[in-house]
Amino acid sequence: MTAKKTTQPFSQLDIAPTIALILGLQLPNPDGRPIDFAVDWECKNVALIIIDSLGYDLLMWLLPTLENMRALSIEGQLLRAEAVSTHTTPAIASILSGLLPEHHGIFDKAGAKESSILSLPEIAAASGQSCAVIMEQNGADVYQGLIEVVCGIPDSIPPQDFDREACRMTCQALSKRPRLLVTYFIGIDKSVHLGLGLEGIREAALLIDRCIGKILSIADDETMFIICGDHPIHAGPLKRIKEPYCVAIIIAKGRTQKN
Ligand SMILES: [Zn+2]
Repeated sequence: MTAKKTTQPFSQLDIAPTIALILGLQLPNPDGRPIDFAVDWECKNVALIIIDSLGYDLLMWLLPTLENMRALSIEGQLLRAEAVSTHTTPAIASILSGLLPEHHGIFDKAGAKESSILSLPEIAAASGQSCAVIMEQNGADVYQGLIEVVCGIPDSIPPQDFDREACRMTCQALSKRPRLLVTYFIGIDKSVHLGLGLEGIREAALLIDRCIGKILSIADDETMFIICGDHPIHAGPLKRIKEPYCVAIIIAKGRTQKN
């Protein structure tokens, strides 16, 4: 994989159009545009890993200690992408639809259930593609009966347990080689809200990085990995209080397994 210098301004809104193009799907009127170098890699499947509160500045601070994400950002690309919201639900809806919050109109969990906006997993499943969504329970419920694999995890369990469970379910789902997999890690955001300080955040990030290592070990080189944050940190001492509000996106190909 050739690492190209990327200068165009990127946005979270570009994720859905990029995935749609890779999977050969039509996304209705997206506000973003495909990230061209990723499309050129000709991957067949996509694994989208959303990490709650993975702001760009935060990842830059953490990256020296995160073995797997650092390797992926070197093998692929690490992008600084404009965030569309400082809240989880509208941001994830934008990641999965390519629409600005004012266009998808999903601002809370109830809105997500009632919305008629089609997101990528539904569009992929409607085209006959196998999809898996691993998410906190409310988010996952939206997809019940619409896609092949839906795993909901209660966000009432300890964050470390949530992330370990997300990792386990993701590995299980990936072994079936879905065209599209969406998974979600919560630990960094929970550490922020629990006031666990910088070390708590780092610990949560290290756990997620180990999970990503496990996930990578069972993926193949036909799968594109897109790892992204939903918003920069929105509480506590590392809270982002001025523009630009940016999240990290890492795009890389899965590896050919040696054994
Ligand atoms: Zn969030």
